[in-house]
Order: sequence, then structure tokens, then C-alpha cells
Amino acid sequence: MEAVEGVVIVGGGIAGLATALGLHRLGIRSLVLESAESLRTTGYFIGTWPNAWKAIDALGGIGQILRAKHTQLTSIMTASLTSGDITADMPVNPTESEGDLYVVNRKTLLETLENELPKGTIKYSSKVVQIQDSDGFKSLHLADGTILKAKVLIGCDGVNSIVAKYLGLSEASSAGRPVVRSFVEFKNGHGLEPKLMLFFGKGVKFGVIPCDDHFIYWFYSFRLPQDKEIVEDRLKLKQHIMNTLGKVPDKIRSLIEETDAKNLEYAPIRFRHPWNLLWGNISKQNVCVAGDAFHPMTPDLAQGGCLALEDSIVLARVLAAALRGEPREDEQQRIQKGLENYSKERRWRSIDLVWSAYISGSIHIWDGAVLNFIRDRVLAKFLAGLFLKKAAFDCGKLT
Ligand SMILES: Cc1cc2nc3c(=O)[nH]c(=O)nc-3n(C[C@H](O)[C@H](O)[C@H](O)COP(=O)(O)OP(=O)(O)OC[C@H]3O[C@@H](n4cnc5c(N)ncnc54)[C@H](O)[C@@H]3O)c2cc1C
Repeated sequence: MEAVEGVVIVGGGIAGLATALGLHRLGIRSLVLESAESLRTTGYFIGTWPNAWKAIDALGGIGQILRAKHTQLTSIMTASLTSGDITADMPVNPTESEGDLYVVNRKTLLETLENELPKGTIKYSSKVVQIQDSDGFKSLHLADGTILKAKVLIGCDGVNSIVAKYLGLSEASSAGRPVVRSFVEFKNGHGLEPKLMLFFGKGVKFGVIPCDDHFIYWFYSFRLPQDKEIVEDRLKLKQHIMNTLGKVPDKIRSLIEETDAKNLEYAPIRFRHPWNLLWGNISKQNVCVAGDAFHPMTPDLAQGGCLALEDSIVLARVLAAALRGEPREDEQQRIQKGLENYSKERRWRSIDLVWSAYISGSIHIWDGAVLNFIRDRVLAKFLAGLFLKKAAFDCGKLT
């Protein structure tokens, strides 16, 4: 006998947990199926922009918890890796709500979301391996042989989403420029200003961000090296970063030296082509996608997770309205209509961000005298301002 569920969310990452919490706040129960045995917290930290804080605050209560554990960033500084010069230093006004810019510990974010959910909402070690139609429901086959029937299926299962595949969305493409992420802990404080520091040039983008008084998060994006051994051996990878990093202050360079090579996390970067988002199905009948399952993007504007949070609010809002409506017989139609409204509301926002992130990331790693000049002297303020421009978005409240 197959168990019948109402709303089933595949994937317990940022998108899945935030959607479940949004629904919970609106009185709708959901079940989150997560393939891992516990919360998956890869990536260490996540840039969290004003648009994400609007979504977090819409979820009620957790904003204060998260803000209290992290440091508010007060400016975005960019510098050239070829000349060493600072090319832009843009203040982010912390006294205005538009200025909410933090780098949040992913584990803390996921745990905070999980703590707000009723016990039993997340079912770990539950990998969905097949999806089938079944009299208006969706039958979900799990790797352990369990079969569940879902009235509504939401794919929050990341870049390799099985739900996106079911909807006919194409596989994400490689951006050809991987990222290495890591962090350094300073037990007695790091003494760096609370700035988002970005260094561009020589085919490289290097970011350094204080998360709180003790932790510095850094990432390094570069063109895929010919020598594959470099990415397979963490010590060689660290050495490669040291060798290819251009001009940065000694204090910044020492961050890489002090990083434990075993904490280097290498991630190939993939994104969904905007035309696939334009023409593809974001929803179909009672199925839809959110987060990276919907719009995987290059991390150049640090917006993937922020956009996932926006998705969650919009989705919870339309779905709760559809599920609460009367009469009961029309529920399937209301769900379909609600998910269509969600996809209408989110399509252009996601196309804009996927595209803007890809283009700005390509410019960040331009190399050559002329291109360096254009990026560092002509476009520097525009590029720094683009982060805040794209983050100036309000997904609205849950109701
Ligand atoms: C290098 C890098 C830096 C980034 N920096 C930032 C940043 O600074 N700011 C920002 O906002 N974003 C950033 N992002 C993007 C951000 O990490 C993602 O957009 C975000 O994590 C997406 O969350 P998600 O919940 O959609 O997907 P995921 O976090 O991928 O979660 C998907 C979950 O689904 C589970 N799952 C997958 N398949 C199945 C299945 N078949 N059955 C059950 N469960 C399944 C997985 O185990 C996983 O837990 C960055 C990304 C990268 C790669």
C-alpha cells in the first residue's frame, strides 16, 4: 500500500527547507525527502543579500537569530590583481534595510530553518529515483523501495534535479570556470574590516569576506587548468592558487597560506541556459521546481541561494492559497493554476539573474591589458554596483 502525502518536497537544502517553513507558517504541512543522512552543508558560507533577508524575514523570527550570529558587511571593495589598485569601494548602508549584507554560515542557516519545522517534516536517507503519474497524483519511488504518492510535488533537489528532468528541463551546462572555497579561523580575531573584498584579473576572481570576528571565508574562481591533477590533489590546488594569485596585500595572501588544504572545497560551476528557462516548464500540472533545480547559476553575483529563498516565499504563498480554496473538487485545477502563477512570477527574475551572473563573471576574469583596463577603470563601479542592483528585490510577504 502506497502512503499518500499532500505536499512533497524533494531536497532538504535552502530551497526545500525554506519552502517547507513558508508552508508551515501558513498552516500547510509538507514532507521533505532528503537523500543525505543528515543536513548537507557543503560550501561553508553563503553571501546573503538584501533580497534574501526580505525572504528570511517573511519566514518570521529567524532573521534576528541569523543576524545575531554574523557580521554585517559595510562595503563592497573591488581591486585589480594585475596592478594591486583598489578599483571601487562602495558603501552598503547598514542603517537602511537595503543594506542587509552578511555572509552566513550555511550550516547555521539550514539548522535554523530545520529547528523551526515540526518534528518529522524532513525524512533523511530518502533518495527519489523515479517519478510516475498516478491518477492525478505523482508516485515517487525511493532508492530503498518505498513508494509515496504526492498531491503536489516540489523539486528542490539542486543542480542535478530529477524533478527538473521530469519537467523536461535540460541539464545544466558547465561554465568552464570552477571555484575553490575555504575558510580560515582566527581564534583571537582576524582584525579585517567588515568588507566584501573582490580581486579581479589574470583570468582569476578571488573573494575574501569576514563572516564574524573569527572566521574569514574566501573563494577563488579560475579557468579550468589543463593539468587535471591540480584539482584532484588539495595540496597542489593550494599551491596553484598561491602561484596564480596576482597582486594582493600580504595580509590577504597569508589567508591562503594559513588555510588547511584539507578544507579546500572544489566545485565545478554549472548554470541553466536562459533560453531553457524561457521556454522550459518550470511547472506542469501539480509539479514545479525551486532553487538550483530551477535556475542553477554561476556564483558571480552570489545570488543562487538568495533566489532560492525568494522562490520559497512566492511558492508557499501561491500554493497555500490554492490548497485552502473551495470547493474541494476543483483542488487539482487550483494547484495547477497556482503553480503556473508561481512560474510566471519567477521566470523573468531567474533569467535576469542567471544571465547577469554569467556575463559579470566572464568580465571579472577577463585577462589582457585592454580588457583589464576596461574592467578596472571603466566598468569597476558598475560591476560593484550590480551586486546591490540585482539584490534590490522584494519577493513580498507570505500572505
Ligand atoms: C562556489 C559557489 C558559491 C556560491 N555562493 C553563493 C553565495 O554567496 N550566495 C548565494 O546566495 N548563493 C551562492 N551559491 C549558490 C547556492 O549555493 C545555491 O544556489 C543553493 O545552495 C541552492 O540551494 P538548493 O536548496 O536549491 O539546492 P542544494 O543546496 O543543492 O540542495 C539540494 C538538496 O537536494 C538533495 N537531493 C538531490 N537529489 C535528491 C533526490 N533525488 N532525492 C532526495 N534528495 C535529493 C541534496 O542532497 C541536497 O540536500 C554558490 C554556489 C557555489 C557553487
